[in-house]
Amino acid sequence: MGSHHPECPDRLSAIQDRLIAAQLDLYLQFHDAPLATTEQLTRVHPLRYIRTLEMNVPTTGIFHVDPDTAMSPGTWTAALRAAGAGVLAVDLVMKGEAENAFCAVRPPGHHAERAKAMGFCFFNNIAVAAAHAIDQWGLKRVAIIDFDVHHGNGTEEIFANHENVLMVSTFQHPFYPYCGAENPAPNMCNVPLPARTRGDGFREVVSEVWLPRLRDYAPEMLFISAGFDAHYEDDMGNLGLLEADYAWVTEQLLAVARESGKGRVVSMLEGGYALSALARSVATHVKVLADLH
Ligand SMILES: [Zn+2]
Repeated sequence: MGSHHPECPDRLSAIQDRLIAAQLDLYLQFHDAPLATTEQLTRVHPLRYIRTLEMNVPTTGIFHVDPDTAMSPGTWTAALRAAGAGVLAVDLVMKGEAENAFCAVRPPGHHAERAKAMGFCFFNNIAVAAAHAIDQWGLKRVAIIDFDVHHGNGTEEIFANHENVLMVSTFQHPFYPYCGAENPAPNMCNVPLPARTRGDGFREVVSEVWLPRLRDYAPEMLFISAGFDAHYEDDMGNLGLLEADYAWVTEQLLAVARESGKGRVVSMLEGGYALSALARSVATHVKVLADLH
């Protein structure tokens, strides 16, 4: 995205370092992310949008899609790999070759609408993954859970009124992207949180709103838009979650997945910009997913 941008390559090296330092890497399978195919992308993005993005990729320097969102020469391949990671994760989990998966990817995806890149996002990675589970694997009920500090407006725009998707989310409000509190469709369960909400407030919402809704829906697979910018130390937002809250919510979601979805979870990195907090939070999340806590 250019120098001094918070959505930077150091985010992934911080995560990788932390997984090694915590010796979690010994218990994990690692996979390189394949490039998403046009067929996989066009399940959620129009071909014309994909072609226009590709045409705008610069050969040198930076091309700005909006004031926050920029492409460098490497962005195209990175964005294809970020989307492809979720597709591979779905295949591994559906084939039973992995119990669940976490995709450490960037650029993030949940702000990308069908035909609009924004908020550091180009392809909606979680939507591409969920659409693959529906189209390729024939799932009828998938749940998307989004606990990023920002509302997943792109995922909402793509799946509002979709008969095979339920989305539950929390996000700081009012805050970028300044929408989401309206719950525009019956399959969208958005819970806006006021600035300075901490773990206890978040857990209350999860327990009282998300979990009953999820259990009632009985999803066959869970997709987590795992943004860690609601962490107390992340000054991108003003919420106050801690690693223990991420561990707790991951346990709750895994329990839902085990009840109705054979434990199937694909989690994909979204935001998280305070490097130490991001890395610690991801390690905590992965530790629970890997049943090592
Ligand atoms: Zn975010």
